[in-house]
Amino acid sequence: MNIQDSVALITGGGKGIGEAVAKLFARQGAKVAVVDLMQADIDRVVADIKEMGGQAIGIQANVTSEAETARFVQGTVEAFGKLNIAVSCAGIIRDGTMLSLDKETGKVSKKMGLDKWQPVIDIDLTGSFLTLRDAAEAMVNGGWDGLLVPISSVNKVGQVGQLNYASAKAAVAMMPKIIVGEFLLRGIRHIRCVGIAPGYTATPMLTGMNQAALHTILEDVHIDRLIEPQEIADLIAHCVSNEALNATTIEITGGLCYPRGIAK
Ligand code: NAP
Repeated sequence: MNIQDSVALITGGGKGIGEAVAKLFARQGAKVAVVDLMQADIDRVVADIKEMGGQAIGIQANVTSEAETARFVQGTVEAFGKLNIAVSCAGIIRDGTMLSLDKETGKVSKKMGLDKWQPVIDIDLTGSFLTLRDAAEAMVNGGWDGLLVPISSVNKVGQVGQLNYASAKAAVAMMPKIIVGEFLLRGIRHIRCVGIAPGYTATPMLTGMNQAALHTILEDVHIDRLIEPQEIADLIAHCVSNEALNATTIEITGGLCYPRGIAK
């Protein structure tokens, strides 16, 4: 596969990693559908792509809805005639420990509620499932070569304070192996699936993170800085052309090694 002749849809394409992927693909000649929640984010990215001479459409949608994932896949195919690449970047964090204790009594003063648990599972896990499922359906029925890219996280190994997020991302990291195995079982040879597990990346998502915790975590990153979204996008672009990458989730972390142990 090459990006130049491809049609790509990117959820979460209005910000951060998704925005970098959408712009890189468009610069390399792909036709791009930018899917996100906020119309203003979508419009800005689509306008930037058009200004650089690329081709893009924007589709406002929520990845947690089956009706909406079907709609944005269909919308992409209607606009550009096919679909080859689906990158599932839409994601959120809602950090907190499962239990909080009262300092004086030592008793539980607060529990992680479903208000923090469920949206992360719905968007990061179910949203990825629905996006990849519906994109794969279109690729199979259209007979188009395809690449599915779920975005996991290095925190899939179990980051303290992220029971919700790490659980979702661990599940997402498993998807390529199972999806490709099922493709093999069904004789589907023209679609690959490669997951990407980024480390700490300089995007708006990190502004939602505990900044003291982030500072401490960066002490464990060998390159001593956040990863740039462009560096993640470059890896995803490489996955498009390198057919040997398949059924796996690749870490890109800047050398996150937890030399002092994972529990912070
Ligand atoms: P970001 O800058 O926050 O961008 C994520 C985008 O997804 C936002 O535009 C967000 O919209 C959108 N989104 C959220 N919920 C959605 C929904 N239900 N339907 C459609 N779009 C939705 O995040 P990012 O850092 O680029 O992260 C991209 C992916 O990489 C995520 O899956 C994240 O978990 C993963 N990741 C990030 C890092 C990191 O350090 N940044 C590390 C590892 C993995 P709103 O902003 O309007 O909610």
